[in-house]
This record gives sequence, structure tokens and C-alpha cells, in this order.
Amino acid sequence: MTEPSPYAADDDVLVTFMLDQPGLLDLILSQHVDDDGGYCLACPGPQSGRRRFPCDVRQAADRAARLRHAQALEHRRDGDGPLGL
Ligand SMILES: [Zn+2]
Repeated sequence: MTEPSPYAADDDVLVTFMLDQPGLLDLILSQHVDDDGGYCLACPGPQSGRRRFPCDVRQAADRAARLRHAQALEHRRDGDGPLGL
């Protein structure tokens, strides 16, 4: 059995997917932005009108970004990761 991590994202498939794909999270964060009118620029939503911002994708991306940041801090504390500057 492995010790459950406080940063585990196993319960959120979308968040895990974003963290697993190099560059995907940054792409989503740069594209799913407020269009200054309260709607997401990247989610046209042709059937139900444009998605309000933050859209579901953006909210998941924000969670993924927080997880990635927390994990980077963990690695830095360990002193053996690529971020151990
Ligand atoms: Zn969106």
C-alpha cells in the first residue's frame, strides 16, 4: 500500500490528465481566459451559448496548476528533483 498524498489528483481524471501531458496545462491556461464579458474565449458552446468564465475546463486547469506548484515545492524540499535550485 502506498501512503496517500495530500496532493493526489486521482479523484479528478481531468486534472490528472492535464498534469500528465507536457505543455497541455499551460496551453489551457493561456486559451481559456475571460473575454472581458464574463465568458470563456475557448469554449464557444454552440448549443447552449458560450460558457461562462471560469468554465469547467479552466477550473480543472486551475486545480492542476495548484497541484503542480505544490508538487514542485515538495520536490524542491527533497532536494533531489530538477527544481532543487
Ligand atoms: Zn473554456
